[in-house]
Amino acid sequence: MVTKGCSVPRQTKRILVTGGAGFLGSHLCEKLVSAKHEVLCVDNFYTGSKENVSGLLKCPRFELMRHDITFPLYVEVDEIYNLACPASPIHYQYDPVQTTKTSVHGSINMLGLAKRVKAKILQASTSEVYGDPEVHPQNETYWGRVNPIGPRSCYDEGKRCAETLFFDYRRQHNLSIKVARIFNTYGPRMQLNDGRVVSNFIVQALTGRPITIYGDGKQTRSFCYVDDLIDGLMRLMGTGDEITGPINLGNPVEFTMMGLAETVIELTASKSSIDFKPLPIDDPRQRQPDISQARDALGWAPSVPLREGLKETIAYFDNLLRAEGTGAA
Ligand code: NAD
Ligand code: UDP
Ligand code: UDP
Repeated sequence: MVTKGCSVPRQTKRILVTGGAGFLGSHLCEKLVSAKHEVLCVDNFYTGSKENVSGLLKCPRFELMRHDITFPLYVEVDEIYNLACPASPIHYQYDPVQTTKTSVHGSINMLGLAKRVKAKILQASTSEVYGDPEVHPQNETYWGRVNPIGPRSCYDEGKRCAETLFFDYRRQHNLSIKVARIFNTYGPRMQLNDGRVVSNFIVQALTGRPITIYGDGKQTRSFCYVDDLIDGLMRLMGTGDEITGPINLGNPVEFTMMGLAETVIELTASKSSIDFKPLPIDDPRQRQPDISQARDALGWAPSVPLREGLKETIAYFDNLLRAEGTGAA
C-alpha cells in the first residue's frame, strides 16, 4: 500500500467528524488528517463553512459531505466525533427546536450508526450541563442546575439528553462511548459573527467599537485555547473501553468578563470604551472546570495561557478584518 504524502497509509482509521466544518471541528479534522487518518467531515453549514476546511479539500484522505445529522447517515467508519451543534447562544437560540433536534435526533442517528458499524463514538458535551452551578469548581459528579424551560434549555437540555442517550446505548448495546464536557474554548477560525465573548471583545476592540459587557462583568468563565482542547479530545478517543467519561476538558484558570475585556483592550492597544448591556436570562454566574479526572485518566492539562492564546486569536481576527477591509487602521 502507498504511504506517501496525502495518500492512505496502513494504520489509517476512517473517522467521521460531525460539525467538522465548524470552529472546533475544522481544527480536529486538520489534526486527524495530519495524523494520517481518513476523515469524513459531515456538516450542514449552519454555523460552519467550507472555508474553514478549505486547506484540506485537496487532500485525498479528506472528504466533505453536506448533511444534517438529524437525518440518518449510512457510512462505514471506525470512529465518530459528534461535534455537530451550534455552540454560541445567539446561534443556538435562533432555531431552538432544531438545536434540540440536532443534539437528540442527531445523537440517536450517530449512535445507531456507531452500533451498526461497531465504531467508537465521542460526544462533544458541554459545561452547560452544569447550568448556573452551586458547586465551584465543577467536577463530573455534580448533576447541575439547569432551567428546563428557559431560552438556553434547547442547548443545555439537548446536550444533557445526548449524554443520557450515550450512556443508555452503552448499557443497552455495549457501545464504546466517550463523553467530553467541554468548557469555553476560543481561538482562530471563530466566525466574526460568532457572538461568543472572546470573538465579540476582540472584534470590537480591533474595530474601535464599544466592548459589550453583559451584566456587571463580574461573572466568570475559564477559557481554553483550541489546540489544547483538540489534544484533549484526541487523547480521550484514544483511551480503552473502560474510560467513558463524562470528563471535563477546559482550562481551570478563571477570569471575570471585566478582566477579559481589560486584557483584550491592553493586547490590542484599543481605544474602545466599555458598554454595559443586560445580562441574558439564565447566564451562569461562574464557571471553572475541575480537571483532576482529565489529568489522571488522560495525562492532559492545558498548556496555553490566556494571554498567549488571545495573541494568536487577535492576529487571526486582525488578518480577517484587514482582508475584509473593515479592520482598524
Ligand atoms: P460551531 O458552531 O463553530 O460548530 C458547530 C458545527 O456543527 C458547525 O459547523 C455547524 O454548521 C454544524 N452543525 C450544526 N447543526 C448541525 C446538524 N444538524 N447537522 C450537521 N452539522 C451541524 O461550534 P464549536 O465551538 O466548534 O462547537 C463544536 C461542538 O463543541 C458543539 O457540539 C458544541 O456544543 C461543543 N462545545 C463547544 C464549546 C466551545 O467553547 N467552543 C464548549 C462546549 C461545547
Ligand atoms: N442510523 C443511521 N445510520 C446507521 C444506522 C442507524 O443513521 O448506519 C439511524 C437510524 O435512522 C435509526 C437510528 O440511527 O433510527 C437509531 O438506530 P438504532 O439501531 O439504535 O435504532 P432503530 O433502528 O432500531 O430505531
Ligand atoms: N458576554 C459578554 N459580552 C458579549 C458576549 C458574552 O459579556 O459580547 C458574556 C456572557 O453574558 C457570558 C460570558 O460572556 O456571561 C460568556 O459568554 P459566551 O456566550 O461566550 O459563552 P457561555 O455563556 O455559553 O459560556
